[in-house]
Amino acid sequence: MSEAEKIQMVDLYGQYLGMRDEIDNAISNVIASSSFIRGDEVKRLEGELADFIGVKHAVTCGTGTDALMLSLMASGLERGDEVIMPAFTFAAVAEVVLLLGGVPVFADVDESTFNIDPESVDRMVSARTKAIVPVHLFGQPCDMVSLTDIAARNNLVLIEDNAQSFGAVCRMPSGHDVFAGAVGNIGCTSFFPSKVLGCFGDGGAVFTDDDKSAELIRALANHGQYKKYTHEYVGVNSRLDTLQAAVLRAKLPHVPLWIESRRAAAKYYTENLMDVPQIKLPAEMPESTHVYHQYTLRVSPESRDGLKDALAAAGIPSMIYYPSALFEQPAYRDKCLRDPMADSCQILTRSVLSLPMHSELTHEQQDRVIEAVKFYFSDKD
Ligand SMILES: *Cc1c(COP(=O)(O)O)cnc(C)c1O
Repeated sequence: MSEAEKIQMVDLYGQYLGMRDEIDNAISNVIASSSFIRGDEVKRLEGELADFIGVKHAVTCGTGTDALMLSLMASGLERGDEVIMPAFTFAAVAEVVLLLGGVPVFADVDESTFNIDPESVDRMVSARTKAIVPVHLFGQPCDMVSLTDIAARNNLVLIEDNAQSFGAVCRMPSGHDVFAGAVGNIGCTSFFPSKVLGCFGDGGAVFTDDDKSAELIRALANHGQYKKYTHEYVGVNSRLDTLQAAVLRAKLPHVPLWIESRRAAAKYYTENLMDVPQIKLPAEMPESTHVYHQYTLRVSPESRDGLKDALAAAGIPSMIYYPSALFEQPAYRDKCLRDPMADSCQILTRSVLSLPMHSELTHEQQDRVIEAVKFYFSDKD
């Protein structure tokens, strides 16, 4: 099989080939300026990101994990403060809360959307709760109307982990469409290469309308200084490289079309897999748009690993996001709290399987995936 026909979870090189000159020029220009740290491209990107998302401030930083850490630092998280987050997600939020001396509090998720369950969040609010960090998982925003209400009622900071749903939109009750990451007090994103908007290495950003938070995060990310060599805070060194900013500036205008391609690919999977009784397809909520960072199936725990192996044998990659709940992780399990009623997470960790999904996927490639899935289930009921 040629490289071109090989099906991949994400096709970063294919995406690059579609805009090779733009990217190569952007990179050459940075090298010509040799302004590798805090160069002009970083400032320009921040302005363009803020305009795109519809917030006053975008502050870039070194990684999406740092974006979460800086947001929690800027929110005044203190030792022993509790932060409510989903138990079914990537480890970043739990990790930074623990690093800052806080306590991760794991809420349950909704089985059909994979997103944090507001009822579980409500149950877990205590006198020590400082913040809620919903994660817009796999490309679809959480129920931000309910979460905004819980945060307001309890005077909590609402920080969105939007690493997987850049470009998704929440339809607010006011009738306005608001981009995910612009609903809460602070939104965080990651430019890890495989994300919807990814760079050629690590990168992240924070979004906010609040002038003070933006200024504070900017200082914290730069060794706690507003003025060179005056350290107002104990900060960190977390910067987006000028080279990465240039790559992201070239890519940003393509994002709406890439999202269209992802949505079209998802629709094609859904149309062709909906008559397979053994699988549950991803649910789309009416109150938001889905940008399909992942296309994730749910199958019975008995057939999940068998399906993964059968796909692999047919040359088709698939991934298990995520194989365990965060409250089960060795590093966190004794240092966290969890909703005792949180059993959806453990059901999901045993039943999810994500299929190849990216903006360069062809119908021919999808047909091979669809056929292999159908073939696996053809002798099972
Ligand atoms: C990718 C990701 C992050 C972390 O991003 P990095 O840039 O790799 O630090 C955080 N949260 C979620 C949900 C992610 O998918």
